[in-house]
Amino acid sequence: MSQTPGVVTIDSVMHGTEGVTAVYYLPGPRPAIIEAAPATSLTHVLAGLSAAGVTDLDWIVLTHIHLDHAGAAGHLAQRFPRARVVVRAEGAPHLVDPSRLWASAARLYPDMEGLWGTMLPVPPERIDAVSSDGVVADLGDGRRLEAVYTPGHARHHMALFEPGSGDLFTGDAAGVFLDEVGAVHPATPPPEFDLEASLESLRRMEALGARRAFPTHFGLFPLDPGRLFDEAASALRRAVELAGEVVAGGGGAPEIAGKLREESLAAIPRLAEDPALARRLGETTSYELNAAGIARYLAKQQAG
Ligand SMILES: [Zn+2]
Repeated sequence: MSQTPGVVTIDSVMHGTEGVTAVYYLPGPRPAIIEAAPATSLTHVLAGLSAAGVTDLDWIVLTHIHLDHAGAAGHLAQRFPRARVVVRAEGAPHLVDPSRLWASAARLYPDMEGLWGTMLPVPPERIDAVSSDGVVADLGDGRRLEAVYTPGHARHHMALFEPGSGDLFTGDAAGVFLDEVGAVHPATPPPEFDLEASLESLRRMEALGARRAFPTHFGLFPLDPGRLFDEAASALRRAVELAGEVVAGGGGAPEIAGKLREESLAAIPRLAEDPALARRLGETTSYELNAAGIARYLAKQQAG
């Protein structure tokens, strides 16, 4: 757990690894968390909330419903019965009935229970389904969270902006950034990754003039948020360009993954020297997952 004014970063210790997936706690008269972490992280999240003195929550706000962000949403909604669960409208049905989301993820992960635990449904009357930008959560004392629609990583992704502090919670829309890696890595999973939508979302976030950016993976971005968006855009363009070359040469997702890995090890020698750090980065998003998402995107482009 770490403190920055107005935001408490709770480490969900996802899959037993520290510094991979955050839950952000925003204290105040109407306290909120942003992200729920996977169900397998529930004890860590509850311990973090309790260490931060949380006895009640008004808001559980999700940037999107991927299992590393929303897996424990049902459990947390049960534990904090007053909280409203805020999510983009496109994602809401999957919280009410997680079975399709689960089946879709099972195509990517062999050990679903071990990695993700079980997802509890969220009662529909507890959900605020967001279909346009603007205030989605009143935090009290004049603070509020505004939704910023940011598709690209997933069609139903939104970032959350607190205009008073200038804090922007980017979810996965600006990729992932680990301090020790020191560079932005794209997060381009199947089946919905879309380059143009991602770049447009980065421009939308940049235009907010945020003072601090908090990617879910992981923690406060140490530099000016503009740097995060710029680096994310170049990293995305570069990854898609490399993948395009591989596809033009007759390769598929496995070859793209190899190329992405090779490129990032060459650019960041520390990843080659420090297997634990490389594994930690792989927990946020793997080359294989990114490659599969880009391959699918390129195939869709090809099909017109
Ligand atoms: Zn995601």
